[in-house]
Amino acid sequence: MSRSDVLNRYLFDDLHARGELVQLKQSYQEILGEHDYPAGVRTLLGELLAATCLLTATIKFEGEITVQLQGDGPVGYIAVNGNHNQQMRGIARLKEATDAQGLKALIGKGNMIITIRPNQGEAYQGVVALDRDTLADCLAHYFEVSEQIPTQIWLFCDEQAQQTGGALVQLMPDGEDKEKQQQDFDHLCQLTQTIKSEELFTLDAETLLYRLYHQEEVRLFEPQNVSYQCSCSTEKCLAAIAQIEPTELKSILAEQGNLSMTCDYCMTTYAFNEQDLSAYLDEGKDAAGGAVTKH
Ligand SMILES: [Zn+2]
Repeated sequence: MSRSDVLNRYLFDDLHARGELVQLKQSYQEILGEHDYPAGVRTLLGELLAATCLLTATIKFEGEITVQLQGDGPVGYIAVNGNHNQQMRGIARLKEATDAQGLKALIGKGNMIITIRPNQGEAYQGVVALDRDTLADCLAHYFEVSEQIPTQIWLFCDEQAQQTGGALVQLMPDGEDKEKQQQDFDHLCQLTQTIKSEELFTLDAETLLYRLYHQEEVRLFEPQNVSYQCSCSTEKCLAAIAQIEPTELKSILAEQGNLSMTCDYCMTTYAFNEQDLSAYLDEGKDAAGGAVTKH
């Protein structure tokens, strides 16, 4: 069922708008796999996964996006990270057990923080308050305030069937006849609004697009596969370790025998002993050299 994890992009050439459709099953299952989240958290994580795929596909360069929600509710932190190759990972941290459902009940009063990290160039961050009822509406609000591009997002998640997905419609204004372009955009949103979760979970993109937009000219691009993949590595751990003062590093090793780091997303543990870290223990020495073994 490779068709289930796919992102489709398309253009409405005559209407100054673009669209995306994402349908996910396996990557969602794999993200849930390592963790034992309650139903409400599984649903929110599924929506956040679909949303991050849609957002990742809007960036025009190689790099990655992290969308995180944090607040004073029972879920203190939930985040999905993905890159231009649609390799996704996600995590939720609970402060307490909860059977709550929905964005507000789970996150409480809080913020959505979107961090975009191009492979070349500076990272940048946008923050909006989570003051709308749904994640999709909060994202539309984010586009409105930080990007100033009219964007509408629809998210669907069935945590029991372990399927998630969503759609995005975005205006591509060209500076002429703004009123007409806004009307066209509203029209596309009305058409997209009719999408049902069972259609998203069962139909292929061509069939679904035909159902939604059969009176419009739609140009569909090659689909992109979406997969679960964690980007943690020995190298990234060592880059973090390089930031620690040698004296502090020595005291950690003296106390614990080794230095171990566990990836929040995939729960992989990386452990380094004194020998592994010898290059980082000498004050003033260039820490870039030295062979490293993963345990
Ligand atoms: Zn990892």
